[in-house]
Amino acid sequence: MIPAAFDYARAGSVDEAISLLGANDDAKLLAGGHSLLPAMKLRIARPSMLIDIGRLKDLSYVREHGDGLAIGALTRHHDVATSEAIHSVCPIVADAAAAIGDPQVRHMGTIGGAVAHGDPAGDMPTVLLALEATMVANGPGGEREIPATAFFTSLFETALEPDEVLTEIRVPKLTGGWSFLKFNRRALDWALVGVAAVRSNGGVHVGLTNMGLTPLRASGVEEAVASGTDPAAAAERAGEGTAPPTDAFGSAEYRQHLVKVLVRRALEEAMG
Ligand code: FAD
Repeated sequence: MIPAAFDYARAGSVDEAISLLGANDDAKLLAGGHSLLPAMKLRIARPSMLIDIGRLKDLSYVREHGDGLAIGALTRHHDVATSEAIHSVCPIVADAAAAIGDPQVRHMGTIGGAVAHGDPAGDMPTVLLALEATMVANGPGGEREIPATAFFTSLFETALEPDEVLTEIRVPKLTGGWSFLKFNRRALDWALVGVAAVRSNGGVHVGLTNMGLTPLRASGVEEAVASGTDPAAAAERAGEGTAPPTDAFGSAEYRQHLVKVLVRRALEEAMG
C-alpha cells in the first residue's frame, strides 16, 4: 500500500504541464488523484514524476459551446452533477456524475481524470461515448479534437499522447429522451454493468460500461432500433461484440444476461 518513489512538481499552467510531461519520461498528471493514487499504492502504476494540475482553476468551468456545452477537464464530479447549465442542456452528464462513488470522490475526482483514465468500469466514459462527445487535448503541437468514438483505445489506454493534457470535453445539446442506468450491488459501488442511451436524429446511441476492455457502443442494438425493431427485441442484441469480465462481483455470463435487461429498460425510458 506504499507507492514506489516518485518526484513531484506542481504545474502553474497547461503549458508548464505539457513541457514537464515532455521533459520527464513516465511522468503522469495528477488531477483529483482518486484513480491514480490507489493504482500507485497497489504499484499497478509507477510514474517517475507526478505533475499536479489539480489547482489549475482555469480548467474548471462549464460554458456554452455552439448548441452544446464545453466542460473544463478539471471540473469536479460534484460541480458537474450540480451544474444548472448541464442539467438543462445535457442532463445525462449531470445524472452520471451524481452516480460516481461517494461525496468525497465527487468533490475530488474530475471529469477529465475520469475520461483520461480510460477505465471500462467508469460511468462518465460510457455516457460521453453515447453522446458522441468531443475531447480537446493540448500538446506541444497545439490543440486537437478527438471524437469520443476514437478516444478509448484499450484497457486504461486512450488516444492521448504521453505529452498531451486533456483540457476540455464538449457535449451536444440533448434534444430527445435519454436514460442512464447503473446496476450495482450496494449504493456507491462501481457499476457491475451500466447503460447510457440517448435519442439522436430519430435513432438511439447506446453505450455500455464494464462489458469489455473499453466503454463500448451497442451497435447491434442501435442497428435494430434504426430498422424499427421494438426495444425488447433490440435489447436481445446487447451482448454482441462484448467481452465482459468475470470478477468477485459477477461472472461474464451474469453480465451478458444483465446487459440485455438494462438495455431494454434504457431503451424504453429513452424512447418512451
Ligand atoms: P486522477 O486519479 O488524478 O488521474 C487518473 C488518470 O488520468 C491518471 O493517469 C492521470 O495522469 C490522468 N489524467 C488526469 N487528468 C488528466 C488530464 N486533464 N489530461 C490528461 N490526463 C489526465 N468512478 C466511476 O466512474 N464510478 C464510480 O462509482 C467510482 N467510484 C469510486 C470510488 C472510490 C472509492 C474511488 C477512489 C474512485 C471512484 N471512481 C469512480 C473513480 C473517480 O471517478 C475518479 O475520480 C476518476 O476516475 C479519476 O479522476 P481524477 O481526477 O481523480 O484523476
